[in-house]
Amino acid sequence: MIGEEPMSIAIRDVSVFGDAIAYFDEAAELLKLEPGLRAILTHPSRQIIFSIPFQRDTGELEVYTGYRVQYNFARGPAKGGIRFHPGVTLDEVTALAFWMTWKCAAVDLPFGGGKGGVTCEPERLSRGELERITRRYAAELIEVTGPDKDVPAPDVGTTPQIMAWFMDTYSMHRRETVAGVVTGKPLEIGGSRGRVEATGRGVSLCTLDQLAVMGIDSRGARIVVQGFGNVGSIAARLLSEAGCRIVGISDVSGGYLNPGGIDVAAALAYSQEHHSLDGFRGGERVSNTMLIEADSDVLVPAALEKQITIDNAAGIRAKLIVEGANGPTTPEADHILAQRGVVIIPDIIANAGGVIVSYFEWVQDRQGYFWKEPEVNERLSDQLLTNFHIVRELATLRGISMRTAAYMVAIDRVVAAMRIRGVYA
Ligand code: NAD
Repeated sequence: MIGEEPMSIAIRDVSVFGDAIAYFDEAAELLKLEPGLRAILTHPSRQIIFSIPFQRDTGELEVYTGYRVQYNFARGPAKGGIRFHPGVTLDEVTALAFWMTWKCAAVDLPFGGGKGGVTCEPERLSRGELERITRRYAAELIEVTGPDKDVPAPDVGTTPQIMAWFMDTYSMHRRETVAGVVTGKPLEIGGSRGRVEATGRGVSLCTLDQLAVMGIDSRGARIVVQGFGNVGSIAARLLSEAGCRIVGISDVSGGYLNPGGIDVAAALAYSQEHHSLDGFRGGERVSNTMLIEADSDVLVPAALEKQITIDNAAGIRAKLIVEGANGPTTPEADHILAQRGVVIIPDIIANAGGVIVSYFEWVQDRQGYFWKEPEVNERLSDQLLTNFHIVRELATLRGISMRTAAYMVAIDRVVAAMRIRGVYA
């Protein structure tokens, strides 16, 4: 039997996955989705937990826990990153796989949703130890991953090198090179041009597009970016190159505000040299709260989940929020911002640039033919903005938030595939 209500209530009370379901529920209600389909879509297709015994460089044996959740396959193979982090749990991986399902559908990719992880601290592991953990992780998943089954990618704590070890292990077992088993690989073994920049580029494309609709001149538009890693720093660079004024940036060391405009190239050079913005003198040092509430036209949260909460939502002065991070806004904060008329481009659209170019990488690997960077960027812009416009039009038509509209578009596409395929039972 599916959809046992007591279990669902218990999950919602305590878990990240339970929180994630809140946005789904709102859209499912508007779509008048029948209870059976809702039950299927709020249950992961497959959750895998396994032990990863490995040898430390000292010769000692240790055991970590590995996970892979394949949430939904209706539109194609599962797709989603692998996280190496001490906080990884089955609940978190399930929530991330759930989000991937809607993200892939919202931008119309032929993928389902998946996510994986290992509960470990990659910063405290040597290169050799990381390689052994990755190879064992990949070997455990041989039967259930593959270009037509489930295609992992990097996420927090994992890198193109880790994808290369995954791909090599898989290929060794299969006795053939299978480049399309993972994306986010180095260029030398079937990675795509433009993949590293893709998420930040998508954030920048959505921001510029929405500013135009809101009648705000992008030249000189004041932008605050929280998080200066892959997504935040590239979004800041591309937006500044497009003429916007980046008035605030931050990383784990704190925030840096400069109403006259931060020199993003100098900040990038500083952060690359010092592996942090700590000590950067191109702006006044402020707290994370002051940064989020700073006077600006656009706020780009690009650090972690749950940054915009009931505690700071009322103080946010930006007119537009573009979610570079996954899940940066809690459902309670989302309602406060909606009441105040703040426009939000939701994560499943705003940060989908990365998975779009991952899709292009998978296509190129299968073709064995690699595109030039301008072609990748042009196709990214087309795929992302076409779907963003569909979402925005639905939001306007129904008088709902773009988040609810994005979920509605995504759920509708997954459900259409499920209805056509039927439920094999
Ligand atoms: P990253 O590790 O490269 O960068 C994270 C940045 O956030 C770092 O600058 C870090 O110092 C900063 N940070 C951490 N805690 C902070 C805090 N409390 N206050 C301010 N800054 C803080 O990670 P990333 O790849 O840029 O990912 C950022 C977010 O975007 C994550 O939510 C991730 O899931 C999401 N995302 C990333 C991609 C991608 O392609 N990289 C794709 C989709 C979504």
